[in-house]
Amino acid sequence: MTLHPDLDAALVAFAAAPERVIALDFDGVLAPIVPRPEDAAPLAATRAALERLAQDPTVHLGLVSGRAAGDPALLRAAPPSTAIIGSHGAEQGFVQEDGRLEVVPPVLGEEQQALLERLRERTAELTAAVPGSWVEEKPTAIVVHTRPVPDAAAAAALEQDTLAQLGSLTGVRAIAGKRVVELSVAHATKGDAVTLLRTGFPARTLPEGTPLLYGGDDVTDEDAFAALVPGDLGIKVGDGETRATFRVEDPAAVGQVLARLAELAGM
Ligand SMILES: [Mg+2]
Repeated sequence: MTLHPDLDAALVAFAAAPERVIALDFDGVLAPIVPRPEDAAPLAATRAALERLAQDPTVHLGLVSGRAAGDPALLRAAPPSTAIIGSHGAEQGFVQEDGRLEVVPPVLGEEQQALLERLRERTAELTAAVPGSWVEEKPTAIVVHTRPVPDAAAAAALEQDTLAQLGSLTGVRAIAGKRVVELSVAHATKGDAVTLLRTGFPARTLPEGTPLLYGGDDVTDEDAFAALVPGDLGIKVGDGETRATFRVEDPAAVGQVLARLAELAGM
């Protein structure tokens, strides 16, 4: 498997910039999708390439995920000095040199907290009737997971009911992903995450016009692709409509892209 010549040329141009931001979704991009989210891990070649890129002080790595920023799977994937933007942009963290994660806690108002509690109660009721489904609680969202549900029709019905009954509540932003429905009371998107990383989060100042590469596979990543500007590089992983300029097949191909970037960086 070799990279498409157009993509390789774009990577060469990207790598020539004095500093670069490389922002990547985790599930389906660095890590293959697995039935149990806690088992997800980056491919070995991908992890090795990230480690090499992290050695380059002119490369600024960021993980941008729907997962909570403190999710252990994200932390295991992130070399020191990687920014971790979780909950689709609502949570921000940074991996210290010693591997500890420093998270900026999201601040919720009273109404948002009350709304989160209501979502917690109602999703518990909805999922109780559908064996295999489960509810994840994040600092700013409640997430209904249906991947383990053996009955596909029941899973789809639960997703629809969740969206119809709770997704339209005032103050709730519903995000339907692959076998998940997230009900968020925060309003950040992965586009906000891209903007944040472009400004040099957490504490750096990047040269004007520093290009940003974003890789994502899901509908929520389209917000990130929409936030790209000329000179940036968007890579969609897998099938589906996208605003991204480039597309690769799967997480293994992402590993190749990152290995090529590490090579171009001389790492
Ligand atoms: Mg993903």
